[in-house]
Amino acid sequence: MTVPARRWIDLHLHSTASDGRYAPSKVMEMAAARGLSAVSLTDHDTTAGLVDAESAATRLGLEFVPGIEMEAEYGHHRLHILGYFIDPTNTRLVEALARMVTNRHARNEEMIARLKRMGVEIDYRAICDRHPNAAIGRPHIADELIRMRAVSSFQQAFSRYLGNDAPAYVPRVAPTAAEVIRIIRGVGGIASLAHPGRIRTSSQLELATMVRDLGEAGLGAIEILHPDHNDSTLKLIADLAERFGLLTTGGSDFHTLGTAVTRGTGFAKRRVPYEWLERLRAARPVSPARPT
Ligand code: AMP
Ligand code: MN
Ligand code: MN
Ligand code: MN
Repeated sequence: MTVPARRWIDLHLHSTASDGRYAPSKVMEMAAARGLSAVSLTDHDTTAGLVDAESAATRLGLEFVPGIEMEAEYGHHRLHILGYFIDPTNTRLVEALARMVTNRHARNEEMIARLKRMGVEIDYRAICDRHPNAAIGRPHIADELIRMRAVSSFQQAFSRYLGNDAPAYVPRVAPTAAEVIRIIRGVGGIASLAHPGRIRTSSQLELATMVRDLGEAGLGAIEILHPDHNDSTLKLIADLAERFGLLTTGGSDFHTLGTAVTRGTGFAKRRVPYEWLERLRAARPVSPARPT
């Protein structure tokens, strides 16, 4: 009897459409070369890479799930919420993302004004020109600081200027988590709480309360496999998923190979089984926006 080969997926990948190093089609080629069966491109607050990624994936025989990673506010926390099976042409999504881009520009300009007061002059237009259609943010400003030799490394750009406790940092205006979940569901998608192990809650009870609350707001899944999660975090979060009836997702949070933007190891060491995608697909909400 032959046992069918197990299939593996990666549901958390970034490209040049946000702060990833490689173009969407290149990321798909890398995923195919690693023998993955299905992937999702989940750029920060943008769907700009999805068309190119999907056509490359189709050409490579790689199953493609249109995705996104959206930033959201929850109390004093900043969360990242992944959206899967989203319809990028839906006007509600397009409008929500356009508002976020406007907010990002205003915030980038404020950070650049602060840098200028600190004696570091950055050409914002040059950054925008170099990254057309990208959701520009701190990583792009950090790269520019390296390029102009104002800092010697990506980490130094954050420790000296851009990190959450550094002087040029300006917080982003972000929609609430409930709002983001509502947007994702409204365009036929499933929302998954990204890398919960990175949320700095004061207790496990606070995290559990947050997850329950997000579940009530329509969260469908939680990312348990992520390079930032060690074994005990993984177990804690898997328990929360089970307790609150959430599906599980996972991915590498791939940004680039071997540099500071990479979280963890690039493509995940712990593999994500294909069955998780089948469960997600089966749980898709019936979208009011989708013609029947
Ligand atoms: P933004 O969305 O503009 O606030 O940028 C957030 C991104 O900046 C994150 O996804 C990381 O890629 C990067 N980042 C934030 N804080 C740090 C840090 N302390 N060190 C390195 N990268 C960071
Ligand atoms: Mn990122
Ligand atoms: Mn994230
Ligand atoms: Mn990510």
